[in-house]
Amino acid sequence: MKLPGCRSLRIVLIFLGIFFLSPLIFAPLAAPMYGISIQAAPAAAEVARRFLNAYPDFLVSYDARKNELIGWDGARFPVGDGAYADCPTQSPPPPCCPPPSPAASLRIRYRATTEHWPTENDPPFPGENAGRLRPLALWNYMYGSPAAKNADGSWRTALVGKRLELVGGDVEKNLAAVPWKLAANDANIRINRANGINQRLAAVVAELEGVSEAARAQYRRIHGGGKTGVSGFYPRFIRAAACEISPHAFGVAIDIHWQAGLDYWLDSPQSDGYRYRSVIPREIVAVFERHGFIWGGQWRHYDGMHFEYRPELLGLTMPPVGRP
Ligand SMILES: [Zn+2]
Repeated sequence: MKLPGCRSLRIVLIFLGIFFLSPLIFAPLAAPMYGISIQAAPAAAEVARRFLNAYPDFLVSYDARKNELIGWDGARFPVGDGAYADCPTQSPPPPCCPPPSPAASLRIRYRATTEHWPTENDPPFPGENAGRLRPLALWNYMYGSPAAKNADGSWRTALVGKRLELVGGDVEKNLAAVPWKLAANDANIRINRANGINQRLAAVVAELEGVSEAARAQYRRIHGGGKTGVSGFYPRFIRAAACEISPHAFGVAIDIHWQAGLDYWLDSPQSDGYRYRSVIPREIVAVFERHGFIWGGQWRHYDGMHFEYRPELLGLTMPPVGRP
């Protein structure tokens, strides 16, 4: 653009442009009306540190010069710079988003239950879906492949009943069953042994035995007296997007009352605008978070039944347990 000739006038116009345009650029990113930012975008070295602390059985060091995480067998994973098209924060998310880098997966800060408890009147911010971006290359390395691929690069699937399932993966050989004792009907949750997730979940179950009777009663009520189920491993896509692999297909996620349909954002009435709902007791969420699991109820696109092993989002340092 050709600006008027006088140099000082040009500078003034440029400043005015930046001044008036910057809110348009940054306001959707930062939720400034609440005075709190959910944008994390940590520097690459901090991203690497968080992943090294979270996954000590698989990641051994960080090559700062190449900005790559290095695995136990020398495998390398680009950390990235956090840049990523804003796929899964759109509503509904478009069907096929490119797999995010580790840096992109930490771009939105996860607010734990100790910091914020979302309610209908104080829901997650627009775009606050921390953890919905998943570093799938690293997950393949740690947890196994969720499906075989067709010649054209698409995932191999088969119709099982009415549901489209992923087939030909090798996650199943890494699974272990963890008894779930909180519901009236005992169930086994199939979950990955890599990173000791089965051990972390067993610790959650043991600790849940000690939560208050009020929380247990609330959980049993939403659990429908045994009519609903809990589930872990499930080789499928996420419900909202036809080709985005579900974390359940890697055996790293748990749904704790999946038939209730009470607090998944797509099941809620949206015709009169956005409305946040959750029925899970805060005490139960806090236990999961302490052991490295984030909660889907902290998402704007809330999934209140959903927990997922993501210690890097919680800033936790996990002890090594040995690879399966
Ligand atoms: Zn889930």
